[in-house]
Amino acid sequence: MQSIKSKVKQRDANILAHGYEGRMRHVETACIGLYFVLFGMLAAKLGLTTPFTSAAFLLIPSFVLSMAIADFISGILHWSADTWGSYNWPIVGMTVIRGFREHHVNQYAITEHDFIQTNGSATIVAMPFQIIALLIPVMGYVSFFVFSALAFLTLWGPMTNQIHKWAHQRQPPRLVRALQKARIILPQQNHSVHHDAPFACYYCITTGWCNWTLTQIQFFRFLEKIITRLTGAIPREDDIGTVAAKMLAREQGIIKT
Ligand SMILES: [Zn+2]
Ligand SMILES: [Zn+2]
Repeated sequence: MQSIKSKVKQRDANILAHGYEGRMRHVETACIGLYFVLFGMLAAKLGLTTPFTSAAFLLIPSFVLSMAIADFISGILHWSADTWGSYNWPIVGMTVIRGFREHHVNQYAITEHDFIQTNGSATIVAMPFQIIALLIPVMGYVSFFVFSALAFLTLWGPMTNQIHKWAHQRQPPRLVRALQKARIILPQQNHSVHHDAPFACYYCITTGWCNWTLTQIQFFRFLEKIITRLTGAIPREDDIGTVAAKMLAREQGIIKT
């Protein structure tokens, strides 16, 4: 692994940092506004349906389940953007992949991001789930459980980038530190495993609950083998450079030559 580390070749931090465009910021600002409108509608629906179904006791398991699912989804999205695609791709490269590449070059840049830059992109992902949650008809215990878990998921999803930012802050707020220590949200030590080059494990960044298990069962290696076999793409080639990416893929049995 040490020889792979020495071959890691990342993009220029300055170029990546200046890729966050004004146009993207306008889109993110509008999406945050819309997210809060939908959030208000979901809160109203939750308030109206809870007494109706007498199912308030289901709120605790659905809340915890939503945290675990949000963590798993954060891992899938993070792994996808870290591992595949290119910063040079049109639209997605500049808007989505750029931020992930920058984060590996300068992991503390995120601590300088304001509310909109931190949370904007996550609200875009959350909105379709908010709409689905609003459309679910609540008629009994099962539908209430599904609805409430999905509603809570749309809360934890957009919180993920903020939680990730706290995991990089040297002095996060006291309450945040307590939640990190209790492993309710992503602890700093858990996330620091991901930032050890070549950045190939511990992708989950909401609670960090899924990281150990997904690493043990080689979940992401399994997906990489399938995708490389189908497409020929080398995992994380755009992030750490062709030489290091090929060395790692060979070591992990993803490619042979
Ligand atoms: Zn990463
Ligand atoms: Zn990070």
